[in-house]
Amino acid sequence: MALIVQKFGGTSVGSTDRIQNVANRVIQEVEQGNQVVVVVSAMGKTTDELVKLAGEITSNPNSREMDMLLTTGEQITISLLTMSLQERGYKATSYTGWQAGIQTEHRHGNARIQHIDTQKIHQQLKEQNIVVVAGFQGVSEDGSITTLGRGGSDTTAVALAAALNAAKCDIYTDVTGVFTTDPRYVKEARKLHSISYDEMLELANLGAGVLHPRAVEFAKNYHVPLEVRSSLEIENGTIVEEEVSMEQNLVVRGIAFEDNISRVTIEGLNNELQTLSTIFTALAKEHVNVDIIIQNVTSNNHLSISFSIKAQDVDMTLDILKQYKDTLGYERIEHESNLAKVSIVGSGMISNPGVAAGMFEVLAAEEVEVKMVSTSEIKVSTVVPQPDMVKAVEVLHAAFELEAQPVQQV
Ligand code: ADP
Ligand code: ASP
Ligand code: MG
Repeated sequence: MALIVQKFGGTSVGSTDRIQNVANRVIQEVEQGNQVVVVVSAMGKTTDELVKLAGEITSNPNSREMDMLLTTGEQITISLLTMSLQERGYKATSYTGWQAGIQTEHRHGNARIQHIDTQKIHQQLKEQNIVVVAGFQGVSEDGSITTLGRGGSDTTAVALAAALNAAKCDIYTDVTGVFTTDPRYVKEARKLHSISYDEMLELANLGAGVLHPRAVEFAKNYHVPLEVRSSLEIENGTIVEEEVSMEQNLVVRGIAFEDNISRVTIEGLNNELQTLSTIFTALAKEHVNVDIIIQNVTSNNHLSISFSIKAQDVDMTLDILKQYKDTLGYERIEHESNLAKVSIVGSGMISNPGVAAGMFEVLAAEEVEVKMVSTSEIKVSTVVPQPDMVKAVEVLHAAFELEAQPVQQV
């Protein structure tokens, strides 16, 4: 008998028919003699609709109340799924995040899980109950309800799998696995048989929405065997694991992309030791997530700094920088929106120089202007004009031969 955590995302529980289908998938595992903990998301686009409702009341909702509102979405699903299981004669109990013992830091909207008290779940499993847990939510030490960030139900599932020492965690979704790039945008995208934790973490952080980045972090840190698979098709998905055999000739495993990026440039800054720390500490304090940073010393010994942020943070960033004008002594701030980030990812890059050069060559041939670049051992990210985003992904996908079936190296 194994303990298995299954997670079903929004589309997979988007109607009562779909919830009945989920009940079938849960029962299949139970019938094979396994103990099952199920994590579910809110039905369909419920979370988006709740965000919209709040927007009809205020443009600046209180973050505590926002979490109170958004967590209701998952609560609907846990009760309906549990009823469906009970209706078929199976013992099942639903738990909200806080009932399931999911303790988070005290931060609304994007809290991290700190600890899971698994006592109640263990007790329920011992009594042969299927346990159905609401994803995306927890409770802080002072009793406030928190959420884990959009897409956070994946993280609930993997964190529970780690805390319960589950044999595996299956993430059921609306695609059949992790693809070389988002199959909704690129029809040549190919499903990967497996991918390493590190590559998946890069892809998730760089915009591949198929897994929440913190879910991959948990899986990597606690060695949780993870499979991403379809809730509707019966076929093997993608295994996310420690080491993946190198595919011959394939240095790039996947391409991730993200739109709504902006670039801010500050020119004529005082060339002082504290300049960088002043700017980025001020932005960090207001939770502005800065991504790529480029610094130059200009001929008159001034500094020029460019950085990329999410478009939604531009106004706040400009406000903050204005407050520091006297300290920083800059001449001018410029910003450019309507940009996107396109990144290639693959562990094979470590031992294959020239991958970045190849990427720039392909983009130049298509007249895609590269505005910023950032690299790590296993990725190259470029910021490009948003209208060119999908074209850039398509040509890179073809140039790095990602649609081809790989030959496994022996
Ligand atoms: P869920 O509601 O099940 O959590 P999500 O919408 O969060 O589902 O994630 C699944 C979606 O992720 C897919 O529909 C697909 O459009 C998108 N996606 C982005 N990148 C990839 C990728 N590399 N492989 C598969 N899906 C991807
Ligand atoms: N319902 C939440 C969202 O839409 C969490 C999730 O689906 O993972 O972001
Ligand atoms: Mg998701």
